[in-house]
Amino acid sequence: MESAAQPQFNPMIQLNLLLFSFLGVFLLRSAAQVLLDRLNIAHLRKHGGSIPEVFQGTVDQEKLQKISAYTVDSARFGILTTLTDQALLLVLLLSGVLPWIQSLANPFGLGVVTGGLLFFALLSLPGFILDIPFSLYGNFVIEARHGFNTKTLRVWVVDLLKGLLLSALLGAPLLALLLFLIQSGGPLWWLWAWALVGLFELLILWLYPVLLAPLFNKFEPLANQDLVRKIADLLGKADLKAKGVFQMDASRRSRHTNAYFTGLGKSKRIVLYDTLLTSHTEEEILAVLAHEAGHWKKWHVPKQVIILEALSLLGFYGVAKILDVPLIYQTFGFSQPVAYVGLFLVTTLFSPLLYFAEPLGAVFSRRFEREADDYALLLTRDPAPMVKALKRLASDNLSNLTPHPLYAWFYYSHPPLLERIRRLQESLPGPGSTEFLSNPAGAFSAAEHRKRADGISPPGGNPPNPNH
Ligand SMILES: [Zn+2]
Repeated sequence: MESAAQPQFNPMIQLNLLLFSFLGVFLLRSAAQVLLDRLNIAHLRKHGGSIPEVFQGTVDQEKLQKISAYTVDSARFGILTTLTDQALLLVLLLSGVLPWIQSLANPFGLGVVTGGLLFFALLSLPGFILDIPFSLYGNFVIEARHGFNTKTLRVWVVDLLKGLLLSALLGAPLLALLLFLIQSGGPLWWLWAWALVGLFELLILWLYPVLLAPLFNKFEPLANQDLVRKIADLLGKADLKAKGVFQMDASRRSRHTNAYFTGLGKSKRIVLYDTLLTSHTEEEILAVLAHEAGHWKKWHVPKQVIILEALSLLGFYGVAKILDVPLIYQTFGFSQPVAYVGLFLVTTLFSPLLYFAEPLGAVFSRRFEREADDYALLLTRDPAPMVKALKRLASDNLSNLTPHPLYAWFYYSHPPLLERIRRLQESLPGPGSTEFLSNPAGAFSAAEHRKRADGISPPGGNPPNPNH
């Protein structure tokens, strides 16, 4: 006899082919992450001591040493964070604690929706707590040691709370609807769920610049009127409106400099960090702006959305196909399929595989960046300010000037700096030439989902976080 109040579970992990295959891919991913990192650091130690020719005069030996120290520090910390997160996940999966968490989440035989919300909330708790010391150390030790952190502890705490509240307010209703559809949407639930999640993502993309980002930063029209006029001139050439340009108080958190393009429809905007505005000359700022105008003009955000939604449809179909396979549940100690447990297990089992698809996203992202650089060149007709801006960005952000080619190919959302600069210098278009614009549409960057972030600066010193 089964009673609703006492769900049956047998917290025994089955050592079967499914589990070993998963563990194989999981550990292969960890090994790949560690190896790529070591390769990159070894490359830096070998080549990072001499100043590349184009950087002569911009970067000196002292700066070069700072770049090496920051790159090594953040890479080590990044890999430690990643491996700790992975270890935690393995403990959750292999200790047999999951069926216990499910019984905690569902003490009175709550329905799939309420039980599922509680299950996911309980599951995310250990990761949330574990991330706290890592975030503190990353901000107040690593970033502070290299002169970047300007965050006070108060700002850090408020950010944490706002982020938590926001993910509860946005995530919980979406998850509830998703679980409702799995339970009651019939055999085509995955199609309705895909449409729903897609619409939700469009809504977020549209609201992000006007509603969500302002929860964390202040966005204002540029103060410098002379610059505003020049921007209006430049954007006028591209048929874009200058009132879509904002400055953001990034200096409240960090001295890193950057710019990005984001939004959909009327919410489209170019955002310049205040740190970039104070560190760069007017002509360099205009070059950065021209690059962002390229993302705008070439429809990079909508193109990303279309490709991501196509992939997401495949994902939902795949999840639906295997959600009812009993082996998945038995392997992790569950006696019978439960929709929310299945959703967690299936997405967790597949996530290490997605890592190996990351370079695909990076390849397309770099293609977008080259398109934006080409467009900027077409607009400004002069590579010199753009080259100067890139050099200053690299120097200000302590970006790695000599990444290992394989590392850059795998992770970089932007082409490595030297390649970008060389390309700009070599490819000044002749009068009337439009061949730079004729590249067929690229696709997306998996890492840059919500906004076309890091509009211009290379990922350099910031380690990629392959878990997100
Ligand atoms: Zn860009």
